[in-house]
Amino acid sequence: MARILKYVLTVLLLAEALPVLFATVTGSGEQDFARMRSVMVRDQIVARGVTHRATLQAMRTVERHLFVEPSLRSRAYDDNPLPIGYGQTISQPFIVAYMTSLLGLRPEHRVLEIGTGSGYQAAILSRIVDSVYTMEIVRELAASAKKRLQDLGYHNVEVVPGDGYYGLPGKAPFHAIVVTAAAEHIPPPLIEQLDEGGKMIIPVGSQFMVQNLILVEKKKGRITTTNLMPVRFVPFTREEKR
Ligand code: SAH
Repeated sequence: MARILKYVLTVLLLAEALPVLFATVTGSGEQDFARMRSVMVRDQIVARGVTHRATLQAMRTVERHLFVEPSLRSRAYDDNPLPIGYGQTISQPFIVAYMTSLLGLRPEHRVLEIGTGSGYQAAILSRIVDSVYTMEIVRELAASAKKRLQDLGYHNVEVVPGDGYYGLPGKAPFHAIVVTAAAEHIPPPLIEQLDEGGKMIIPVGSQFMVQNLILVEKKKGRITTTNLMPVRFVPFTREEKR
């Protein structure tokens, strides 16, 4: 009887251990994340009308789970933003895809992002264009995003710590600018640094009121703005006046 029990127990234990062993051997953890990414793209992004192919391809390949802390990895492909420390968030996947898809990006483009955060949006952009400059006002976040992007091989992204209100005049003009924190007005230096024919996407509004996602276009030196949709972003903060 005892022997039978021992046998049953061994079989049970093995049965439980097998999927783990199998997962380790085949690396199915990574496959799970790849599957979660394709489901994310299908159900959250394509289902809501994003069709820009390069954006969809980047969203399928960039490993979003490596841009959040390990304890949040299993939730990285959920349909919402997640905390990244310092009161900041990594944006919802749909918002990242939507903003990216409207910038008219081409492989030869140079793009500026304001609000590096985790570095995820910058990584998505970097798979589509030639070079990405991204500015982050929280020094610790800038440093950790820089390291993460380097470690993961995103070599065409440059992280610049500092107040993005002023942009990067030394690297301008930019074919596209994307701002991922809500500003009370569109910073004039960013409009200045947009190339002819260029596009900028920026959430505008205060922390306590409705914010609007705005598309800014520069055509023949003239600026047009289009309201896209109401959104909710962390606030655009400012360093002490220079
Ligand atoms: N794009 C990020 C989302 C980050 S949330 C990602 O993919 O993870 C917005 C970020 O903007 C925050 O990290 C915040 O610190 C930063 N930010 C706010 N005001 C800023 C400013 N004036 N200049 C640069 N970064 C700013």
